[in-house]
Amino acid sequence: MREVVGRIYAPDAQGRYRPYRRLWVREGRVAGLEPGPGEGEAVLPGFHDAHVHVWKVGQLLTDLLDLREVRSLDELASLLQERDRRLPPGTWLLGRGWNEAGLGGIPNRDFLDRILPGRPVLLTRTCAHIHALNSRALALAGIGPDTPDPPGGEIRYGEGLLLERAYGLVERVLPRRTVADYRRYVLAGARHLLAQGITSALEAGADPLLLEAYRSLDREGLLPLRVSVLALLRPDGEETTYPLPEPYRSERLLIAGVKLFADGGLSGASAALSRPYRGVGGKGVLRLRAEEVYALALPAHRQGFFVATHAIGDVAIREVLLAYARLYREDPRPLRHRLEHFGLPGPRELAQARALGVWAVPQPIFLQELRENFLRYLPEGFLPRCYNLGRMERAGLSLAFSSDAPVVREVSPLRGALAAARHPLFGRGLPLERALLYYTRPEASGFPAMRLWPGHPADLVVFSHDPFAHPEEARVVRVEVDGVAVFTA
Ligand SMILES: [Zn+2]
Repeated sequence: MREVVGRIYAPDAQGRYRPYRRLWVREGRVAGLEPGPGEGEAVLPGFHDAHVHVWKVGQLLTDLLDLREVRSLDELASLLQERDRRLPPGTWLLGRGWNEAGLGGIPNRDFLDRILPGRPVLLTRTCAHIHALNSRALALAGIGPDTPDPPGGEIRYGEGLLLERAYGLVERVLPRRTVADYRRYVLAGARHLLAQGITSALEAGADPLLLEAYRSLDREGLLPLRVSVLALLRPDGEETTYPLPEPYRSERLLIAGVKLFADGGLSGASAALSRPYRGVGGKGVLRLRAEEVYALALPAHRQGFFVATHAIGDVAIREVLLAYARLYREDPRPLRHRLEHFGLPGPRELAQARALGVWAVPQPIFLQELRENFLRYLPEGFLPRCYNLGRMERAGLSLAFSSDAPVVREVSPLRGALAAARHPLFGRGLPLERALLYYTRPEASGFPAMRLWPGHPADLVVFSHDPFAHPEEARVVRVEVDGVAVFTA
């Protein structure tokens, strides 16, 4: 039996953090707690990131050029040249994360051709819906000035940009990712998450190869944190569907849910709204109507998979709720489906989500990182409902918070909770304590509760300072999963 001392906080059944001064761990589980205020480092239950792309985080840390912090086209040019010198001749240079707002311009075809005429270059915007290519890359993809737009996509040949499903044209000529690549990415991403105190996560979309990478890592005992993996049902840009995977459940790995996309994103004005966007116009893209969500989700629902559907705009949310209601009505099961992002629900959608008992999985950190985009594009009257976490809570929703990294750079649940508390959009958020609690909801992803109660796994995060009293100073210094240190600062 091991003893942990410090300012230990574990939430009670009502969701209030109670102070303890001692915690005992036996065989990877919490064996007991001694109440009372402690001293020294702060210990909290490990966080759950309920929607994150673990492998993409890892890919950005390894094979991709990370462009999220680049602040000018000149800086981008020197980064590209530096990477070019380290790559074998003729291979693709792949990057992700540019944003014209921060760059002061779009890395268009002329720009990329000037810097790297010989090597194919593909730079994905931070939203992952827009891609910048040089002439060499366009030629390899078979795209010329007269290539017609594919359905659901757009080619801007002059600028070298591919939008939405036009990405499929270049995707098929890129080097294939292997199970070995995916394993590398998952492990790199997992290390990054652990360093933020995340001990369990939901991988928000996996193709069959990524599923295989996860299964093999789990069989070999190499997964350092718990991951619930959503199987993609329909790959982007295709009409085919993947078969449902075999359900899988171990201590560390869960394959119990599937992922669907009902609309686009807010920052690129493609979430499906009932009113036109300001400035850019249009009401976004509804990718699936209720009948289609229902038809795609039904086989998964029948086999006991929970369904997690990306739905941001009010129209998309409404359609998904209609589909979920029908699933529960026609085939009642104790499954809790989910709404990913849930950016702009109206009062009716809040009530319906509550009545159906589905999980809502928003990303409070968006309020900070995408604030400018929200202010610029949202129609009149939509701002007060944008990621209104207080309203969601008052409506009695089941909430689980998440980062959606690497869509935004910040992964830390404490930073996310601070954004939820401050609500940079309209300044009225949640108490920090409850915001943190919503990053402690592994149940939303099919895991049992993990709150540092006796009998629960000893998954915990140790902070240098008390995160409630000194959230700005608190740094993660140690993380344990099943009572074993998996990260030490
Ligand atoms: Zn996502």
